Amino acid sequence: QDFRETLEVIPLSSNGSVEPQRICVCVRKRPLNKQEMNKKEIDVVSVPGQGALLVHEPRQKVDLTKYLDNQAFQFDYSFDESATNDLVYKFTAKPLVQSMFEGGMATCFAYGQTGSGKTHTMGGDFTGKQQNSSKGIYAFAALEVFALLNHRRFSNLDLSVYVSFFEIYNGKVYDLLNKKAKLRVLEDERQQVQVVGLEEVCVSTAEDVVKLIQLGSACRTSGQTSANANSSRSHAVLQIVLRRNDRATTLHGKFSLVDLAGNERGTDVSSNDRNTLVETAEINRSLLALKECIRSLGKNSDHIPFRMSTLTKVLRDSFIGEKSRTCMIAMVSPGMASCEYTMNTLRYADRVKELNCNSASSAASKTQEPVNSSTEEESVEDTSVFD
Ligand code: ADP
Ligand code: MG
Repeated sequence: QDFRETLEVIPLSSNGSVEPQRICVCVRKRPLNKQEMNKKEIDVVSVPGQGALLVHEPRQKVDLTKYLDNQAFQFDYSFDESATNDLVYKFTAKPLVQSMFEGGMATCFAYGQTGSGKTHTMGGDFTGKQQNSSKGIYAFAALEVFALLNHRRFSNLDLSVYVSFFEIYNGKVYDLLNKKAKLRVLEDERQQVQVVGLEEVCVSTAEDVVKLIQLGSACRTSGQTSANANSSRSHAVLQIVLRRNDRATTLHGKFSLVDLAGNERGTDVSSNDRNTLVETAEINRSLLALKECIRSLGKNSDHIPFRMSTLTKVLRDSFIGEKSRTCMIAMVSPGMASCEYTMNTLRYADRVKELNCNSASSAASKTQEPVNSSTEEESVEDTSVFD
């Protein structure tokens, strides 16, 4: 596709260096899966150009093929179903790895409904067979970290790399590198937040990191409850930490990669089960807190509402300071059946971006209106490609 070629040049400045914006919000659409194709689901999401995304939302459910409304969104980047993890990485997390070497606190979030591709994007697919596994953002970031560690620009810093990996479920932190040990989150009088006893493993190669990710991911999905259900209700946080090789192993930079809990629960109130209700409330609270914290970062506000949730508490450092950089990748499923969730995800992402004063494209993101103001007759014609 044409826009792919233009994409290649965009984030590079004239001197060739990557200049990450403070807040970057992207969207990724996954392909229709086999089940959806068998059900002959209509693909209602399209990516017409760089950063743009269209949802052909059904206005009336009686005749799905005829009455479709276009909802247009504009983000920093939009990736269609043909985008690879490699390409997504390049425009999302890659610039953040460099900012971590420059002493920054970087965070990259995968947001979206369960099944929309968060784990695929972050962790890749490790199907067990090595040749079939594809790398995700975790692995690409790890490779980049070790490449930069030896780069002449940073090699004199004398840094070591550490990794921690934990899960936040119902507001509690569990260490994925230490048999899901339950950990306490403490805040001292200077508002510094600490996860007490969190394993931080010193690593010397990207392969070490990948092994820890596999270990932690296996730990994440093990346990009493149905594997998938549980992991979709928790946030997984992988942290790559750079420390100086001094006596205090001073923190130099940190990159937090977060595979967020599925956001679909917000609209799903059908359950009367107490556990589910508690889970739902907690997920909603943390996602709301996250949005508010990123917006505060965008506004350069002194007040960061990080105490609203455990997630934002442990990520407090990411929302303060000149050198904080955040990237959110909103994942959407393409099918008509997911339309409502897709719209929720896009509205959330739109709100995260809205107040980003450093962004050149923020003015273009007020996009709740239909993209074309055509008459009904014309829009019927427009949608004929979906028949
Ligand atoms: P989530 O973590 O958001 O619940 P997953 O990442 O587990 O969703 O994705 C659900 C399924 O869809 C997985 O089988 C995954 O391999 C597949 N999938 C997701 N995104 C893509 C993509 N971009 N290309 C191909 N398959 C994908
Ligand atoms: Mg997942």
